[in-house]
Amino acid sequence: MHWHTMSIEETLKELDVFVDQGLSTKEVKQRQQTYGKNVLEAKKGKSLFRKFIAQFADFMIVILICAAAISLIVSYMDGEPDYFDPIIILLIIILNATLGVMQETKAEKALEALKKLSAQTAHVLRDHKVSIINSTELVPGDIILLDTGCFVPADARLINSVNLKVEEASLTGESHPVDKNALVRLHPDTNLADRSNLVMATSSVTYGRGVAVITGTGMNTQVGHIAKLIMEDETPMTPLQKKLAKTGKVLGIAALIICIAIFIMGLMKNLPVFDMFMTSVSLAVAAIPEGLPAIVTIMLSLGVQRMARKNAVIRKLPAVETLGSATVICSDKTGTLTQNVMTVTQICSMYGKEKMTGDFGEFLLSHAALCNDALLQIDKNHVDIAGEPTEKALVMAAYHAGMNKLNLDSTYERIHEIPFDSTRKLMTTVHKSPDGTYRSITKGAYDYILPRCSNVYHNGKQVPLRRNEKNRINALNSTMTGSALRVIAVAYKNIPKGKNYDDTSLEDDLTFIGLIGMIDPPREEVKEAVRICKQAGIKPVMITGDHVLTATAIARELGILSSMSESITGEELSRLDHDELCNKIPGYRVFARVSPEHKVRIVKAFQSRGEVVAMTGDGVNDAPALKAADIGCAMGITGTDVAKNASDMILTDDNFATIVSAVKEGRGIYDNIKKAVHFLLSSNIGEILTIFVAILFSLPTPLVAVQLLWVNLVTDSLPAISLGVERTAKDIMQRKPVPPSKGMFADGLAFQILFEGILIGSLALTAFVIGYRYYDMPALLKSLTNQVDTNAMPGSYVPWVGRTMAFAVLGLSQLFHSFNMRSRRSLSEIGLFSNPKLVISFLICSFLQVTVISVPFLSRVFQVVPLNLRQWALVLLLSFTPIVVVELQKKFNAKKREMNS
Ligand code: ATP
Repeated sequence: MHWHTMSIEETLKELDVFVDQGLSTKEVKQRQQTYGKNVLEAKKGKSLFRKFIAQFADFMIVILICAAAISLIVSYMDGEPDYFDPIIILLIIILNATLGVMQETKAEKALEALKKLSAQTAHVLRDHKVSIINSTELVPGDIILLDTGCFVPADARLINSVNLKVEEASLTGESHPVDKNALVRLHPDTNLADRSNLVMATSSVTYGRGVAVITGTGMNTQVGHIAKLIMEDETPMTPLQKKLAKTGKVLGIAALIICIAIFIMGLMKNLPVFDMFMTSVSLAVAAIPEGLPAIVTIMLSLGVQRMARKNAVIRKLPAVETLGSATVICSDKTGTLTQNVMTVTQICSMYGKEKMTGDFGEFLLSHAALCNDALLQIDKNHVDIAGEPTEKALVMAAYHAGMNKLNLDSTYERIHEIPFDSTRKLMTTVHKSPDGTYRSITKGAYDYILPRCSNVYHNGKQVPLRRNEKNRINALNSTMTGSALRVIAVAYKNIPKGKNYDDTSLEDDLTFIGLIGMIDPPREEVKEAVRICKQAGIKPVMITGDHVLTATAIARELGILSSMSESITGEELSRLDHDELCNKIPGYRVFARVSPEHKVRIVKAFQSRGEVVAMTGDGVNDAPALKAADIGCAMGITGTDVAKNASDMILTDDNFATIVSAVKEGRGIYDNIKKAVHFLLSSNIGEILTIFVAILFSLPTPLVAVQLLWVNLVTDSLPAISLGVERTAKDIMQRKPVPPSKGMFADGLAFQILFEGILIGSLALTAFVIGYRYYDMPALLKSLTNQVDTNAMPGSYVPWVGRTMAFAVLGLSQLFHSFNMRSRRSLSEIGLFSNPKLVISFLICSFLQVTVISVPFLSRVFQVVPLNLRQWALVLLLSFTPIVVVELQKKFNAKKREMNS
């Protein structure tokens, strides 16, 4: 259908909808059945089976499977088929892969749920009413309202447009916004980029507003035709994942070299070749930490789900890590630090305060209500106003003073407008009076209006504005802003009949009417959030379009600023070059009267000082700053789609305190990832050392392939995941931010991991030596003296008890050790049961470990023997040792910290 060739009436008729009513609910339901959801078919996710198979796509696992198969064939050819070993190895690998798939699916679900949370909405007219709905529910024929900053949710034909400009780069390649006009009809051959009466899905409104009727949804849109565009929905690796993948590779190569060394040493010591090979490969599978990035994904996605519950929706995974390192939070004032509930409390003429209900008050407020886009809705006795808070306050004040905006609007018809934008800080409308005369009204920031005024309204007349009057108005403005009021100035201009109004001259040579002051109280919780920020080594910074006195009054109340010298205005900022700004920036806490364009400079200047910057934003013009910031935070309520799309995180409650709690959560997640990595690596080192040292000292291999795989792939993974949900440490916001350049293993962590690895390895070896020396050797000697049996020659005999004890200690000591990871504080302080998931993991894994040793059938499979009470007591004693050692170490470190502070 060539929608661009049709008139508005023809389009509406074709789509069977009335422009003032919209579709009915019944009609919408029917159309939804016909046309489906307004979504683009995304790339199909990997099937469960493919995910499962992908778990085996690891070089060492493939070798292990081959080795198991060879062992089966060789034993079969020898006439003594050994089914157990290969089957158990396979089962363990399958169990491990299943766990992997489960975790991966869980992480994917968490991220999927998040995508839904940050889904786009649209303003739609249905059943005579405008409501906000999820864009996926739209159908052809729906009437939608478009406003600056919103994304066009589907392809649509414009019905009305006011200064509408749309950016369609993703479809036409044209990076500049293009003008749109509802009234034109175009030739059928007009190409896509020139169809000025149509708007298309995925483009965004950069200026003005409009109304449109939807002509196509979902795959039936222009973007649907270029479906490839959307298929690239892959989540890239986060910096931490990349770093860990690299660390994993280095450690993996080291582990591989050690495994090869172990194999060669085993051969030199005449140990059975095939057993040695199996042990080395199993050790490589177990000890190569290729799973580290996966652990990070799981923890990040679970953390992100928690954050969403606290009103911070993460759009880009790396933001979680960066959040934890944030050192500066640049926040808008209105709505983020304040409640965004504005109430007019004062009005002034050039002589000073005036009554809102007097002649002057009526004149001023009626003009403010006319040059205004807020929507007054009166339902019986209930008055409701929809729109932007500043404008709502003005309409409400006018209403209380006896003027109804609806009546004003119908008497003084609006025939032209220049919308408000936060760079110009002005808004202008042109009205036609019943007597046929024209008047423009301009309202905006006081310091942007006064220079444009040459007259002043005085006693119903228009008189020249003199310098001393300007000074007086200046002083009045300072008093109002100094008491934290947002001040709006209102002016007008009579336009001679017949004169063509054009945009540039409309806002010059104005007649000043007066000032309107409104209060927007700070949010209660922000004061505490600012205090926490400072304690956590993060600088809270206010960036606002408001007047410097209003801004500093509020910043002082919130504890952001302590002296006026810490504030700077946009005008002063424009005079500084980049280097000067970089030099001075650490001293500023309030940036007032700034335009969105200044925000990018502010971000870059802070970054040049090595700061990690979080920045809030809501408008279209904020998008570059949100992108430039390390963490761009868009407002969920007042934010435009464009700002949201440019952000890393959306604050669903627009609240500064939410950023602070997200930082806390980010630090907590990083801390927990560190714990899991710490745990896994120290355990791996323990395993490698056990085997390496035993072979070095000519002892029999203390652990066989199945045992190694079991400990590593099964019993280790549950506690590691449980560490990911450890409660955030109480003192986390008393620590300084961790610079992103500082590696995870800094501050002695690498040493600590090595130390604990050695500890675990020594314990397992001790268990082995005790079992071997005090139980296996005597048994062997006895059998040798009692009966000379060639099968019992030292070369081929099995150190049953030693192996069993080593296997038990290795598994259990790691399980106990997982509790050490929970905090740098002692377990007695944080409470043994305060992470129930870890306790449950511990119980399950310990039960499994004891079961495979004690149940006769399983013990055969795992090549162990049931232990007696005394042996179990020894195993427990050794396994518990890491807790004792690390607790002592923690006590020692705490004393050291105390002495240093
Ligand atoms: P913040 O940057 O703290 O979030 P803001 O975004 O509301 O504040 P701007 O929108 O840039 O700041 O507003 C700057 C100034 O413009 C205000 O101080 C006010 O004087 C004026 N202003 C705000 N809204 C309007 C409006 N709808 N019409 C006319 N002037 C306005």
